[in-house]
Amino acid sequence: MNDRRRFLAQAALSAGALAIPRGWASDPSDPRADAGARVVSTWDFGVGANQAAWKHLSTGASALDAVEQGARWAESELCNPTVGRCGNPDRDGVLTLDASIMDGDGRCGAVAAIEDIDHPISVARLVMEKTPHVMLVGEGAQQFAMAQGFRKRRLLTPEAEQAWREWRARAEYQPQINAERSVRPGNKDNHDTLGMLAIDRNGRLAGACTTSGMAWKMHGRVGDSPIVGAGLYVDNEVGAATASGVGEEMIRNAASFLVVELMRQGRAPADACREAIERVVRKRPEASKSLQVCFLALNRHGEVGAFALHAGFEYAVCDAKKQDVLHASGSIYGGGA
Ligand code: ASP
Repeated sequence: MNDRRRFLAQAALSAGALAIPRGWASDPSDPRADAGARVVSTWDFGVGANQAAWKHLSTGASALDAVEQGARWAESELCNPTVGRCGNPDRDGVLTLDASIMDGDGRCGAVAAIEDIDHPISVARLVMEKTPHVMLVGEGAQQFAMAQGFRKRRLLTPEAEQAWREWRARAEYQPQINAERSVRPGNKDNHDTLGMLAIDRNGRLAGACTTSGMAWKMHGRVGDSPIVGAGLYVDNEVGAATASGVGEEMIRNAASFLVVELMRQGRAPADACREAIERVVRKRPEASKSLQVCFLALNRHGEVGAFALHAGFEYAVCDAKKQDVLHASGSIYGGGA
């Protein structure tokens, strides 16, 4: 990390949230309100996704278009074992992908456990726009994608297949092998999600979430990422939230919805994320010690905050003034990352 980045990361840490200049994003009709546009993403790889989204956001595209483009970048370009085409498969060696998209007016779409389709986020958007439904799963999601012009293609990379073979040789077919390897489930070494939130120059919010889910999960397992309210929630009146980590905890706590509702009650984004994390701990104190859960929030004023159970969570922020800046977050166990 260079000095500028370190300074900004430390400033964000001590403030608990990224401070926005007064009046920033407050007047969407101001032609200079381009400065009000901002995109944030989970993890350090969010930097690339943010850049892809920013190309659109900075030229006046809607937050919805921007987050779709950012998520598409992660699905095809990132090539990381936790998102999109390079993701690790489930315990049967099958790569299944989950994604959701939502705008601040409550329009949303999702796909879960979809196979052999390279841009689940765009399928999710089409579910939102072209069907009376919110979520399609498995074969039905794939059939819908193909009817919309997507082509089936085998996504499992030789590297992911090899990793799965190695895991299976050691794992006796247990989905939680990561715990045996003393790697905390939900940390970025074994599973992450690209969760992206954006506000556009008109003050509209949107979010996208895309993942291959927990590596070596049971076939048919669906995490939080495609579940509206768990892995993603957006409301123009308040703000938006997304999550990464062990999705079962987000589902149990309707976590992204919870973060948005806490912001509605007046919490700053970082405080809302912290309180939601505390809720996770209260529900399952023992389990919380050994798994990772991370929340990222953006309010309607463009303020950003994040919090995690354990140290190590990073997120990326991009706007007209700065790009590619990584901000460490606070955590319950381990303080600042
Ligand atoms: N939350 C995702 C899931 O549980 C994966 C992750 O972010 O680690 O499927």
